[in-house]
Amino acid sequence: PEAITVQELANRMAARGGEVVKALFRMGVMATLTQTIDADTAELVVNEFGHRVRRVSESDVEQGLEGTVDADEDMLPRPPVVTIMGHVDHGKTSLLDALRKTDVAAREAGGITQHIGAYQVTVQGGQKVTFIDTPGHAAFTAMRARGASVTDMVVLVVAADDGVMPQTIEAIHHAKAAGVPLIVAVNKIDKPGVNLDRVRQELLQHEIVVESLGGDTMEIQVSATKAMNLDKLLEAILLQAEVLDLKANPNRGAEGTVIESKLDKGRGPVATVLVQKGTLRQGDMVVAGAEWGRVRAMLDDKGRQLKEADPSLPVEILGLSGVPAAGEPLSFVEDEGRAREISEFRQRKLREKQAAAAGAARGTLADMMA
Ligand code: GDP
Ligand code: MG
Repeated sequence: PEAITVQELANRMAARGGEVVKALFRMGVMATLTQTIDADTAELVVNEFGHRVRRVSESDVEQGLEGTVDADEDMLPRPPVVTIMGHVDHGKTSLLDALRKTDVAAREAGGITQHIGAYQVTVQGGQKVTFIDTPGHAAFTAMRARGASVTDMVVLVVAADDGVMPQTIEAIHHAKAAGVPLIVAVNKIDKPGVNLDRVRQELLQHEIVVESLGGDTMEIQVSATKAMNLDKLLEAILLQAEVLDLKANPNRGAEGTVIESKLDKGRGPVATVLVQKGTLRQGDMVVAGAEWGRVRAMLDDKGRQLKEADPSLPVEILGLSGVPAAGEPLSFVEDEGRAREISEFRQRKLREKQAAAAGAARGTLADMMA
């Protein structure tokens, strides 16, 4: 049960704040407009005012948005979503760039690449893999804190000449906490005198046991700058994906997660969204975090205009009312009224949270000055 401020309760009943304070007083509860009362007390007040009790909770307003269960027979295979992590300078960006160049579809499109936070490559043979470019581990942590799970596996980049470093260990912890498998990409093997055994032993100390040491973690030796063994890495990713048996129902309203967002001078709010369920279509009404809007335009990582986006495809969308934060969920909704209702509800919750945080901060200050 939620707590609610007296003012908020009055607003929801379209009653005067003073009347609610009076009703509470009659019930023996002394509260001002800004004070919070628990849900049970609120219910008594609502009864007092002769309203039918309807606790507007997350599940009420957002019912049907998430948690729609798909039937097994509607589930179809979807491409894996991969996050590349590792210590600074171990070659994450170089590897992402190199992998992007393996895209057979990009060559057909003339190789125009747009830098959005995620892209999808089509491997020889037509299979697809989506890569997410985490701007840093902090962003990954923020997404996880919001409960967003976007990645199916982590490719851990470890420079052969440097070995396991602090951010390597951090990435191992992230993968473990997220419960996703990890593939080790030992990078920079083009450098002379690299010691692979040392890297393996260091990984072992952090409970990552590679196959050559009898474990089940795949280890691929690559060179991002010399484009060595990228096919083997993609093969390992697809193998892991097969084991995971990744599926989604493409024939339903879309659900996804905002990966990054910005306010663009010319285009307004722009969000990169990973579609995770269903198909997102141009013209769809959506809510994204506390924002809403009709998808005015949709672009892929090659800058091409799309009419629809299926599961595991990252797309840039235009048309939102504001800029949603990375990690926020995006959902298809049937109509504008509902989109507004959900957005208003979430905006209100956001304000309440901010007010509570401000209150807590004031409390701390008061404590300090006492
Ligand atoms: P990030 O910080 O993990 O994104 O690392 P970068 O991709 O920016 O790479 C850091 C440095 O390592 C750059 O100077 C790259 O050119 C270099 N580098 C990356 N991959 C390789 C590789 O496979 N071999 C060699 N010799 N250098 C590499
Ligand atoms: Mg980088």
